[in-house]
Amino acid sequence: MSSLLHSLQNLKATGCLFCAYERHQARRYLEGIANDGINDPPLRIRLRNKGGFCGRHTEEFVEEARVLSSAILLEAMLSHRLERSRFGKRPIVVDCEACEIERKTRDNLAKSIRRSREDRAFLDYLFQSELCVGHLELVCHQLPEPSRYHFVDKHFQLLQNLAEVIRKHDYRFVSEGISEEETKSIERALQLLRDE
Ligand SMILES: [Zn+2]
Ligand SMILES: [Zn+2]
Repeated sequence: MSSLLHSLQNLKATGCLFCAYERHQARRYLEGIANDGINDPPLRIRLRNKGGFCGRHTEEFVEEARVLSSAILLEAMLSHRLERSRFGKRPIVVDCEACEIERKTRDNLAKSIRRSREDRAFLDYLFQSELCVGHLELVCHQLPEPSRYHFVDKHFQLLQNLAEVIRKHDYRFVSEGISEEETKSIERALQLLRDE
């Protein structure tokens, strides 16, 4: 477990720690493809048949890869899909391998959290880190009751602020004015709910 804690600490994540970790693992896979995988014809055919990568991971690939590797991959993806279009085939459902890496990473995270549910240092680190609601759910699903409450109650004030924004829109309380912190609660809730 300490190795996971160590990897997480080295991430320098902005936003949700686990979103960053999943993206980091997918990026390592894309780097591998960009560095040498692209010269492997069977792999190229496999990627082409899966419709390439999703839009987000195609962009990451192009950021990562040399121009030649990008051109090879994009040509394979695009020619395949244009060819299918020429024959009036059904729109392809992209089966993105980088997204698959993110899903597997998420499953492995869940297992690691379960194994470390009594590890104080690990839980403290998670508690101090930013987690989106999706990852908060993942964590809480693996934790015993006191720890779950601890993680959820962290957002109590945010819920209160949102409730105040709602209440103060009632004409009877409109004169109270909405504080800056209450106004910010919309953006803060959006950050937690955004699926990255
Ligand atoms: Zn997240
Ligand atoms: Zn993807």
